[in-house]
Amino acid sequence: MLYKPAKTFSEASPCTNVPLQCPLCPESTSGNRKTIWKYNSYFHLLAEHSVSGQRPPDVPPQFWIDTWLQHVEEQAG
Ligand SMILES: [Zn+2]
Repeated sequence: MLYKPAKTFSEASPCTNVPLQCPLCPESTSGNRKTIWKYNSYFHLLAEHSVSGQRPPDVPPQFWIDTWLQHVEEQAG
């Protein structure tokens, strides 16, 4: 199985539903963005940032790589 080097919390926990910072939510006064759960990230983007309520917004490609591609790998494994 191919796994990318752990870069978030996966080293500490086999559970991969990890919190992420939404790249589209505005930063709070403390400089942190809204935290969303990885497996909910797609739905958060649709609910909060969708374009015309129909399709997910443009996000940095790396965000999808960090979420869904890895998710698919886990499903396949
Ligand atoms: Zn957001």
